[in-house]
Amino acid sequence: MTHHPLITTIVVALVLAFALGVLAQRLRLSPLVGYLLAGVLIGPFTPGYIADQGIANELAEIGVILLMFGVGLHFSLKDLMSVRAIAIPGAVVQIAVATVFGMALGWSLGWPIGGQLVFGLALSVASTVVLLRALQERRLIDTERGRIAVGWLIVEDLAMVLTLVLLPALAGMLKGDAGSLGSLALPFLITIGKVVAFVAFMLIVGRRIIPMMLHYVAHTGSRELFRLAVLAISLGVAFGAASLFDVSFALGAFFAGMILSESELSQRAANETLPLRDAFAVLFFVSVGMLFDPTIVLREPLPVLATVLIIVIVKSAAAFAIVRAFGHPTSTALTISASLAQIGEFSFILAGLGVSLELMPERGRDLILAGAILSILINPLLFAWLDRALARDAAAPAQEGEETAEPPREELPVTALKDHIVLVGYGRVGNLIGAALRAAGQPFLVIEDSAGPIERLRGEGVEALSGNAAAPGMLEAANVAAARGLLVAIPDGFEGGQIVAKARAIVASLPIIARAHSDDEVAHLKHHGANIVVMGEEEIAKAMLAQLGTPLANANGAA
Ligand code: AMP
Repeated sequence: MTHHPLITTIVVALVLAFALGVLAQRLRLSPLVGYLLAGVLIGPFTPGYIADQGIANELAEIGVILLMFGVGLHFSLKDLMSVRAIAIPGAVVQIAVATVFGMALGWSLGWPIGGQLVFGLALSVASTVVLLRALQERRLIDTERGRIAVGWLIVEDLAMVLTLVLLPALAGMLKGDAGSLGSLALPFLITIGKVVAFVAFMLIVGRRIIPMMLHYVAHTGSRELFRLAVLAISLGVAFGAASLFDVSFALGAFFAGMILSESELSQRAANETLPLRDAFAVLFFVSVGMLFDPTIVLREPLPVLATVLIIVIVKSAAAFAIVRAFGHPTSTALTISASLAQIGEFSFILAGLGVSLELMPERGRDLILAGAILSILINPLLFAWLDRALARDAAAPAQEGEETAEPPREELPVTALKDHIVLVGYGRVGNLIGAALRAAGQPFLVIEDSAGPIERLRGEGVEALSGNAAAPGMLEAANVAAARGLLVAIPDGFEGGQIVAKARAIVASLPIIARAHSDDEVAHLKHHGANIVVMGEEEIAKAMLAQLGTPLANANGAA
């Protein structure tokens, strides 16, 4: 076994993370907790097999690159700008408050100023993974408060990117190394110079070449090459940034992603890296777990408790106060507080850097890890409490000056439309259907998963529900019970089957027409209650043959 340390590490880490991830999911916890625990189990602090920390760290680095590439890809200046009035001051004040409290805790534990700072900053930034999942589960992404929370997180991420860049340069100064200010300022200026050179290079050269390359590859029509191109760009730029400009892998990858996010192909690029990103992100969390010494919870219960309190209570209170001070309703303030009351990947990256620069003692990293695991565990409880609080609020009359709280999940408002068509999916197929329905003056409502079409539709005055049509409450909100028909125009017939079954359960007589791309899908959709299933490929063949004046033969009887 020891002859293949790389393979062993990958396999053991993934298998164990999978098992514990599933378990965590069953217990209604974030799978992240499972991945971290898998790391603890194969780490040096628990008995049994001990994975190779060196290899695990390198694998984790790939995970960081891909995570940061994803952060860059999703970085949207437009989203940030739309909520900048609250997100920017909010995030800055929250970071400051959390950092000050974290520093105070570090100070009371006798750490040097550099360690205090790293510790405080690590407690100040929430986990994107945890936040997005919590918002998605509650269908809040598309709401005002969801957008504020995401914008807020973007500001935190940017602050952390900046910290990761500056920390190595500032390390000497923070450690209070003897030397004149001049001798400390020089390396700092050199670092800044390198970062500026890298950013300029990316903005001037990268910005032209990278999208061009991707565009070219996309037009070769090879999916495999496209995938490879995205990977080569993310890893290549990160590596090049590190070796040529001395900036971190993380910053390089973030920029590669950000540059790509401007291109139309970004969505596809994001999707292509997803599977690999997920796998390596899991390895990242496992390797973080390996560093964790769980006995700290018993050895130092008070510092652990203080850390958790800063993450869960202090940060939430600060966020709540700021959001309220800006005149937003209590429901918004509570959602944002709960969303940000945890820490995750950035904190781990920062803690790792702080320890490797010898700024922060390893004990600090253990506290951060304990705080992260506990705060991620507590987060769903906060949201459950929030749901109850909002339900209570919604029952009470809205106070003056407050917009009414968005109803909690169960009560998506039901459309007033009747005798309408419910159209699921507004992609290539849905678009054509929508245009025709509009031309015919037939009222319709769209349920669509991705944000782009939703915004467009709403702009055009068409009612549109954002989210997966199979999610609880969606079809009810679309009032399928009173609809003239349901068109399921999404490409995956098996996913469509779920939607058809749900609609059929609501109303027995509704005409349902669904889209499929294989015989199995046709059978599946019919089985679940679709009246008519249109198979895309068959229709294309028919249309092509029609040009020749030849009818379609029965596929089985053909030849
Ligand atoms: P196309 O294959 O181009 O017609 O696009 C299908 C569209 O359906 C895309 O815009 C998807 O975002 C959307 N879609 C896929 N699955 C679902 C779902 N379960 N609920 C709502 N929209 C979906």
